[in-house]
Amino acid sequence: MKSFKPYTYLLRYYLASLLGHKKPLLGGIKLTHACNLSCVQCPFRQREAPSLSFSQALSAMRTLHDWGVRILIIEGGEPFLWRDGAYDLRDIVTRARELFFTVGVTTNGTFPIEVDSDIVWVSIDGLEETHDRLRGKELCAHRGQPRGHGAPQGIRAPYYQLAQLA
Ligand code: SF4
Repeated sequence: MKSFKPYTYLLRYYLASLLGHKKPLLGGIKLTHACNLSCVQCPFRQREAPSLSFSQALSAMRTLHDWGVRILIIEGGEPFLWRDGAYDLRDIVTRARELFFTVGVTTNGTFPIEVDSDIVWVSIDGLEETHDRLRGKELCAHRGQPRGHGAPQGIRAPYYQLAQLA
């Protein structure tokens, strides 16, 4: 049976906001600053910061939940690179889905999108030339042809991943 919990929460959230009780609905955790790319526009790859441990990530998620967050976005760096021992992104997403109504992951699209989140955002910076110039590698040229779904030539690499999701 479909749960009405998100809807009742959102209704209470909306009514509370009308009364001036503000709290966050959407929050994010940055698992790691590590990334396999070096995009010119990225502030994170230049910052030295340790990745979260699995227990730190769980603690951060519980804190966000306590604050009222019900939509969680997991990001990096590149979150598919994140590891803590045997744990990887899929374990984080599994635990996140126990707490949050919706869980999203952002990725640069260079790894297989094998994760059970509700949403995956793949960064696309423009058509092929622009995307490759900003991302620092000839990403489009190295990804080969997309499978199915008539992906446009110019955004081959991310679209390849998007086509796999469809
Ligand atoms: S893929 Fe994202 S995290 Fe990695 S360097 Fe580019 S903007 Fe930064």
